[in-house]
Amino acid sequence: MLVDLHTHTSASDGELAPLALLEMQSAAGVGLTAFTDHDTLDGWDRIAAMAAPVPGLPRLLPGIEFSVDAAGREIHVVGLGFDPAHPAIRGGIASQQARRRARAERIAARLEYLGVRGALAAAEREAAGAGLGRPHFARFLVASGRVRTPEEAFHRYLGKGKPAACRMEWPGLEEATGWIRAAGGRAVLAHPLAYKATRSKLRALIGRFRDCGGDAVEVALPGLAAADMALVAQLTREAGLRASAGSDFHATGGWNVPARIPPLPAGLEPVWADWV
Ligand code: MN
Ligand code: MN
Ligand code: MN
Repeated sequence: MLVDLHTHTSASDGELAPLALLEMQSAAGVGLTAFTDHDTLDGWDRIAAMAAPVPGLPRLLPGIEFSVDAAGREIHVVGLGFDPAHPAIRGGIASQQARRRARAERIAARLEYLGVRGALAAAEREAAGAGLGRPHFARFLVASGRVRTPEEAFHRYLGKGKPAACRMEWPGLEEATGWIRAAGGRAVLAHPLAYKATRSKLRALIGRFRDCGGDAVEVALPGLAAADMALVAQLTREAGLRASAGSDFHATGGWNVPARIPPLPAGLEPVWADWV
C-alpha cells in the first residue's frame, strides 16, 4: 500500500478536483492520503459534504500546507490528522487568508500608483474564490494587455525587487505548529531540501522545528537523490522526529506523482503509524 501525505487539489494550485485526485490515487495504488492544499480545507470540505463515501477510494486524512516564516525565510509546514472542525485550525486558516488579502491590497495599491487601475477586483475575478496571490495579478496584467506573459508580469511588476513587489508576512513556526497541534494533528516539515539550506543550517532548522512543536519531517519524496534522502533521514533520526512521505502532487504528467514516492529509509518511525 502506498502512502501519499502531500497532495494538492484544485482547491489550491492543483489540477484535479478532490474526487478526481482520489480516483487517480486509487488507480496508482495509494491506500492512505491527505489533501494538503495551501492554507485551505475546501478540498476536504467538498469530500466531507458528499452524501455517501465512494467505495474503493484511499482513506483520506484531514491535511493542510501552511506557509510560515522561519527566521526571515518562507518554509512550509504540513498538518495531518487534526480535527477539521477545530477552531484553532479554522482560525489559523482565516488568519492566513487575511494575510494573503492584506498583501494583495498592498500590491494593488502599488499598481494603482504605477497607473494600473482596478487590479484588486480583477485579480479577485481571476482567483474565482481560490487564495488570492500574485499569479492572479499576473493573469490580469496579461489579460489587460500590459504584458504578454505571466513571466513578464513578474519580471516587470510583481517579482522580487520590482515596483509592485510586496513581501508576504507569514506567521512564525511556533504559531502554525500550534494551530495543528491544538486541533490534535501532527506537524510535518515539508520538503526540507527545498530551502537550499547547507547541511548545518538544515540540521538547525529541523532542530528548531522540533523545539517549536514539530512531529515529523518529509523524508520520502519523488525525485530525491539517494544521498540527499539519506541526509534528511539521518537529521530526522538525530532530532528524534518521525518521518512522512508524499508526492507533492500538483498536476498529471509531472514527476510529483504517487508512484514515484520512494520507500521510507530503515530506522524511521512513520508519522502515519497512528492512523493505520
Ligand atoms: Mn503549490
Ligand atoms: Mn510546499
Ligand atoms: Mn505542497
